[in-house]
Amino acid sequence: MSDKISPPLDRDQLIMQAAALADHLARAGVQWMPRPNADAVESLKSRFQTVAAAGSAASRAAAPVAKTAPAPVAASSGAPSGGSVGPAKQPPRRPALNPTLLSDHAKPYPGPSLPVVERESELATLATEVAGCQRCPQLVRCRTKTVFGEGNAAARVVFFGEGPGADEDRSGRPFVGKAGQLLTKMIQACKFAREEVYILNTVKCRPPGNRNPEPEEIANCRPYFERQIELIRPEYIVCLGAVSGQSLLDSKLSVGRLRGQFHPYFDSKVIVTYHPAYLLRNPAAKKAAWEDLQMMLRDAGLI
Ligand code: SF4
Repeated sequence: MSDKISPPLDRDQLIMQAAALADHLARAGVQWMPRPNADAVESLKSRFQTVAAAGSAASRAAAPVAKTAPAPVAASSGAPSGGSVGPAKQPPRRPALNPTLLSDHAKPYPGPSLPVVERESELATLATEVAGCQRCPQLVRCRTKTVFGEGNAAARVVFFGEGPGADEDRSGRPFVGKAGQLLTKMIQACKFAREEVYILNTVKCRPPGNRNPEPEEIANCRPYFERQIELIRPEYIVCLGAVSGQSLLDSKLSVGRLRGQFHPYFDSKVIVTYHPAYLLRNPAAKKAAWEDLQMMLRDAGLI
């Protein structure tokens, strides 16, 4: 058994972790969790300050008197210090926790967060409605199956694509062709199983000849994808390609202009990156796509 003891969390880390836990539970459909508010946070801070001050005074009293001056502390980068008889090793830097969890600026999703079974039930009802949808006459004529989306109704991360291709149209499942296989590898590289995330598209019916969906078709399908995301209310939404990014964010900017930063969608954080089909045609862009995913993983405290 390892005898390593994790370094104690400081006050701010404790508050951030408590807030992150509350946020995860609320998003997973636990309804009795109180939402943090500014007064409660200030009260917690002052309580931690008191406890931390008492703890430091007690440790100082109990500690033996140092015979030599303390060694200089390494820079906060967490980089190892040089020299064999150098200063004590800094504890490993903890990953940053989601800094917007305590923000009052993020607009929450409307209505309560539903328990997972109710989300699954509502998603199933919506899928039935989509299967009979006739709003886009050309797509209805060409489609074999509607492709609603699949995955974990309490996912932390939602992957949001453009529309079904030929393989998806045949199977009724999102991202199962070559691009889908690459997406599965991207998800696994993030240390998620495909079943842990949720995958959906902007339009649920295959545009003929793999053309982009028309604005009117996206507008027709918007209530479906908006409801899916509202039910799941993930922490992160990864938009794959320009169509999904522009549709969700109501933007006309290219992927190149939208990527590399977080965008708000209610209180989810949106990143926009390249579509796996584009990455198959342009492997040089894989590095940039991986950087986008790493930005999300760092923010989520997962790397
Ligand atoms: S794309 Fe969406 S709105 Fe259009 S027919 Fe299919 S399900 Fe209906």
